[in-house]
Amino acid sequence: MQAVFAAPQHSRGLFLESGPVRAFHSDTFVLPLPPGHSFPMTKYRLLREAAEATLPGVRVTEALPASDGELALAHEPGWIAAVAEGTTTPAQQREIGFPWSPRMVERARRSVGATIQAARTALFGDSNDQGGPGSPEGVAANLAGGTHHAYAHKGSGYCVFNDVAVAARLMQAEWHRRRAGIAGARLLRVLVIDLDVHQGNGTASIFRDDPTVYTLSMHAARNFPFRKEPGDLDVELADGTTDGPYLEVLDAALDRAFGDHGGEPPGLAFYLAGADPHENDRLGRLKLSAAGLAERDRRVLERLRSARIPVALSMAGGYGRDLAVTVSIQRRTLELAWESWRAWGARGSAAAGLADAATRERAA
Ligand SMILES: [Zn+2]
Repeated sequence: MQAVFAAPQHSRGLFLESGPVRAFHSDTFVLPLPPGHSFPMTKYRLLREAAEATLPGVRVTEALPASDGELALAHEPGWIAAVAEGTTTPAQQREIGFPWSPRMVERARRSVGATIQAARTALFGDSNDQGGPGSPEGVAANLAGGTHHAYAHKGSGYCVFNDVAVAARLMQAEWHRRRAGIAGARLLRVLVIDLDVHQGNGTASIFRDDPTVYTLSMHAARNFPFRKEPGDLDVELADGTTDGPYLEVLDAALDRAFGDHGGEPPGLAFYLAGADPHENDRLGRLKLSAAGLAERDRRVLERLRSARIPVALSMAGGYGRDLAVTVSIQRRTLELAWESWRAWGARGSAAAGLADAATRERAA
């Protein structure tokens, strides 16, 4: 293992047994912020560097930008055009929290693109659409994303476009197209597990009338956004919630989310693994330890893996007083994703992938 750790390049041959799980980044598209702005722009580069230096089983690739057509699966054309053409109003920019710039647009597109590519890799095994039923990798990640405050018609809270909403709708469309003509093929049900400390209000709003996407959000009750949007399952936590009570509530919420699907289990999950429930987060209000957050990730990933539900992770929020702590929590999330990927065991095996899909369809 030591030799693998020391290897400067990620030769695929080295990782036939241990990796890589795919991860997609957009951190080279840094947007200009005024001095003293509270958004931790450097976090994304630091996380990628930590992954590249210490996680040989994680292969990081730069994400492609999401197109207008892809964004339109979850956003109103007027909002896409306003962002793309730079005609957002000062009030709209204040609500997002970023000044408009061409780089802001590019970064927003790439951040959605990274979640699209992660979802496609998890579900079909190819990050660019190669068609055909594919073979699921089971797990893949976006090193950013989790922009769950973005609505169909506006951005909010550092979120311009909603990566998970766009990727969920796009994967449903690709699933339908790739499996056209396969007997018994069903539509793709999606489960969103949002454990960022803030409510996934934009996601809940976008999918409110869509029974094919189930949204679970567990968040601090007294935190932003102050007007919550009802999702399929919302779990509100008191200020100062610690590891033990949090994990207990999480287990119950996962039981309910998995049970609520009845006879039609989800075929794809999105996991927003926010680091902002941590006790030293500036915007969090909860008191989870790093070990508690790792246990949270482990439980979510194990549930999904044992149910054979492919998952795309987004890192979502993390605003530690010490940014190194936030980066280390998210690095650990990626490490656990790698472990879950290894346990998934279907990589590179078309037969196993098809068996998974067939199992899901029989179950549906
Ligand atoms: Zn958050």
